[in-house]
Amino acid sequence: MGSKISEEELNKALSATAPKERVDPRKRWVEKMVKSAAKYHKICPYFDKKTGNCFIKQLKFLKSTRCDRDGNFEGCPVFISYLEEKYEWYKETGQPLPMDFRDLTMFA
Ligand code: SF4
Repeated sequence: MGSKISEEELNKALSATAPKERVDPRKRWVEKMVKSAAKYHKICPYFDKKTGNCFIKQLKFLKSTRCDRDGNFEGCPVFISYLEEKYEWYKETGQPLPMDFRDLTMFA
């Protein structure tokens, strides 16, 4: 003996039990900072126009310090991971997270 359930009932039951999409606060903050940075900078603020090097890579003593993106920081993994590290630092030290990229560069 089987019981049948309508598609509508099934969708209702699934939506009631499906976990809501989690919003990663770090990801959300990083995206906000990238957007904010784009407001003030056409090319990456960590791009050395004279040498073509990346200041973040230099700071981390990476083997290659060259920026291979011509200063295009949107979607740059180096830029993103730098912001993620900053997020962790703010969280660990209990400092309020800046909401504007200019404030980040002031305190970083
Ligand atoms: S590698 Fe990324 S963070 Fe570094 S200068 Fe280039 S765009 Fe900026």
